[in-house]
Amino acid sequence: MGNARSVLELTPEELALQLGELGEPAYRADQILHWVYKEGVLDFAEMTNLSKELRARLAAEYSIDSGREISRSGSAGGTLKLLLAWADGVTTECVMIPAGRRRTACVSTQVGCDVGCRFCASGLEGALRNLTVGEVLAQVLAVKNLLAPSGERVSNVVFMGMGEPLANYAVTVEATRRLNAEWGFGIGRRKITISTVGLPKQIRRLAREGLQATLALSLHAASEELRADLIPWARRLPMGELLGACRFYLEKTGREITLEYCLLSGVNDRKRDAADLARIARDLRAHVNLMMYNPVAKLPFARPSRAHAEDFLRDLRSRGVNVHLRESRGLEADAACGQLRRRGEKA
Ligand code: SF4
Repeated sequence: MGNARSVLELTPEELALQLGELGEPAYRADQILHWVYKEGVLDFAEMTNLSKELRARLAAEYSIDSGREISRSGSAGGTLKLLLAWADGVTTECVMIPAGRRRTACVSTQVGCDVGCRFCASGLEGALRNLTVGEVLAQVLAVKNLLAPSGERVSNVVFMGMGEPLANYAVTVEATRRLNAEWGFGIGRRKITISTVGLPKQIRRLAREGLQATLALSLHAASEELRADLIPWARRLPMGELLGACRFYLEKTGREITLEYCLLSGVNDRKRDAADLARIARDLRAHVNLMMYNPVAKLPFARPSRAHAEDFLRDLRSRGVNVHLRESRGLEADAACGQLRRRGEKA
């Protein structure tokens, strides 16, 4: 821990180059990364196809900084949320979400978040720093090792934890490539979702990366005024520009966009909101994911009733929208995103 040379930060080429300086052949890098990404091994001592001397040397000069588990909380739906501490003491959360045969790792990209959505706990203190590529991959590794005893594996990854992934653009793109890489986790590109509050310039850039990841836009409000009120960053990101960038993503990648919409009672769940949302969804040929808000202490928002959420869903369907109401499996244990970290810090 704390060693700057965490192997999780390195590509096989980079690791091979460094091992070359120790007089080791290039294939040692593949062996080490195989242990880490395929076997979930976090201790060089367990890498039994390496000589004892090399294992000792690796332990002295490298780390596998996989985060230190501070706490774990589960919910009735089988969701598990981990709070991980990094070498400098900051903490972030990642979540394992089961759904049918899918096992999704939901990862954070920043410590805190600068977007400052008024209904979210993560935004209360802003972003302390970006996570590194290795720290993002370490979260998937943590979920992988969580599932291993039951013989299950991570099938999907969503960049939907703490932070705005496109504000940590290079790390998000590189982590996506390594999640997909044969030498990495080998997770299908289409099983990786990048969720963003919507930074038009970065969405256009992402469309050109050839990643084939799913783009999920955290819309949460379908009118310019309401969105600007709920999401402070939206004031700088005109809706027209944002939707233009989403259309570009759709045209360039052929990948359907998902619109995330968190229902806040009496705020964005009215008839006219459904009409505005349906217009945007149809225009983008997007799928809509509705979520029920999980109240955060001291924040002035409430969760709508299940019946009301279902009315909203039916309204959208009657307007020709492909929409689902997502169970809030991930968050009922600790209310909303970011709360677990805040609680852990106070403990
Ligand atoms: Fe940031 Fe997401 Fe929270 Fe908004 S909802 S403040 S984008 S973590």
